[in-house]
Amino acid sequence: LLQLYGPLNFLGFVYREIKNSLADMEKMFGLLGKGAEIQDKPTAKTLQTQQAAVEFSHINFGYEDNRQILQDVSFSIPAGKTVAVVGASGAGKSTLSRLLYRFYDVAGGSISINGIDLRDLTQASLRAHIGIVPQDTVLFNDTIFYNIAYGRPTASKEEVIEAAKSAHIYDFIQSLPDGFDTTVGERGLKLSGGEKQRVAIARTILKNPPILIFDEATSALDSHTEKAIQAELKAISANRTTLIVAHRLSTISDADQILVMREGQIVERGHHRELLEQNGVYAQMWALQLNSEE
Ligand code: ATP
Repeated sequence: LLQLYGPLNFLGFVYREIKNSLADMEKMFGLLGKGAEIQDKPTAKTLQTQQAAVEFSHINFGYEDNRQILQDVSFSIPAGKTVAVVGASGAGKSTLSRLLYRFYDVAGGSISINGIDLRDLTQASLRAHIGIVPQDTVLFNDTIFYNIAYGRPTASKEEVIEAAKSAHIYDFIQSLPDGFDTTVGERGLKLSGGEKQRVAIARTILKNPPILIFDEATSALDSHTEKAIQAELKAISANRTTLIVAHRLSTISDADQILVMREGQIVERGHHRELLEQNGVYAQMWALQLNSEE
């Protein structure tokens, strides 16, 4: 019996790891208990690239049959570039990121990476290529070291430290009595929204994926934190194909393209300055935001 203990204990560990990581992803997307049944095709290919061009082509989608959420949405993110999506709450912004991660299949049109339809790729290889910094990061009841290393469990201690430094959370960790060994999460030290987001950024830096999804927190931030997050976003999105779901326009004024969504459709697109010149929905949102900041 004792001989069995080691392997069984290990299996228990593997089971918990898998369960945790699924729960983590589901929570990230607010999907708990709602997971759709996505199956790999028997002929599914393994995605293997460091340069990923993403294309959404004439996407139609609804979570339920009788309610269409996205209508004829088309845009592309060239490899290494950044596209930001803005629009009122419920416009369908986060839905785009869920579809790119393939939590659901589209009802019409196609999403492809380097010309390959997502439905022709294995889910594991697709997801290995995407890093997500969600609105509200879920931390495991474990050490802060574990929580960062989760991005790449084989990373060395030095690499975890480097990632923490790049995500501007190293000094904070060093200030804790137990440093990287501090337990965080529900049953440990509670971190602020901004600190949790930095842990997610450090995780993603370690994972080093070619595609990045950044879902900006809706909550208002003080201008110091906002500037810090902008700087981190810039650092982490450089040379990665990036989709930003934005709530504050100031974060995205240097995106390569901004999409303005309304009721599941793209109603305007362009650079920040082009959109201001169009004097449409985006220009209105910008004026409103400036007013409220004043
Ligand atoms: P926000 O800015 O508030 O985050 P959003 O633009 O990101 O909003 P989505 O989360 O994409 O909006 O949601 C678009 C629409 O789809 C909403 O009307 C929402 O109620 C609906 N929706 C989202 N998730 C589901 C789901 N799992 N099942 C059914 N409807 C959903």
